[in-house]
Amino acid sequence: MLNLVIFGPPGAGKGTQSENLIHKYGLIHLSTGDILREEVKNQTELGKKAKQLMDTGKLVPDEIVIGMIHRKIDENKQAPGFLFDGFPRTVAQAVALDEMLNHKLMKIDKLIALEVSEEELVKRILKRGKTSGRTDDTDLSKIKTRVQEYEEKTKPVMEYYKKQGKFRSVSGLGEIEQIFQGICKAVEV
Ligand code: ADP
Repeated sequence: MLNLVIFGPPGAGKGTQSENLIHKYGLIHLSTGDILREEVKNQTELGKKAKQLMDTGKLVPDEIVIGMIHRKIDENKQAPGFLFDGFPRTVAQAVALDEMLNHKLMKIDKLIALEVSEEELVKRILKRGKTSGRTDDTDLSKIKTRVQEYEEKTKPVMEYYKKQGKFRSVSGLGEIEQIFQGICKAVEV
């Protein structure tokens, strides 16, 4: 079994590289951003709660995303492995994930961090905003809030995995295929 976390600030290319990773390694893709957007679209109670926060670029509460991930893992008992994308985004989420996996005699193998400068991130998100239909992609102040949330709450997650010897950093700049080669190397060595 192979369980990976793809990590990086908003706009780093996690979604794009996740598609490549799930195909190559046959993993189940668990993106908390995608799951939350689906809940918003279906106007569920959870979606209604999450929408306001997502629209402003704030993180949704830990217990909501932790519960979501827990359910998804339980729904995929035969999975050959998982790719966690956009999760864990806080140290509390990372601790909860370890507990969940421990309980099932599973573990995270590696966290792959995509490194991209802030200037490039903002450029990419604004470009994506022209076609993504995501309201949080079009407004500079919302993008800034997301980057700020990342700096404050999400960056410490890297230390958590560094301490476990599972942290791998990969350049997120350049051609998609070339970045993917860097990721595969980090996964395999
Ligand atoms: P990006 O990485 O481009 O910011 P995502 O699709 O991963 O986008 O997330 C979109 C929004 O969904 C986040 O800004 C946040 O509000 C919410 N979200 C997604 N994952 C989490 C998480 N693990 N914890 C808290 N909020 C989350």
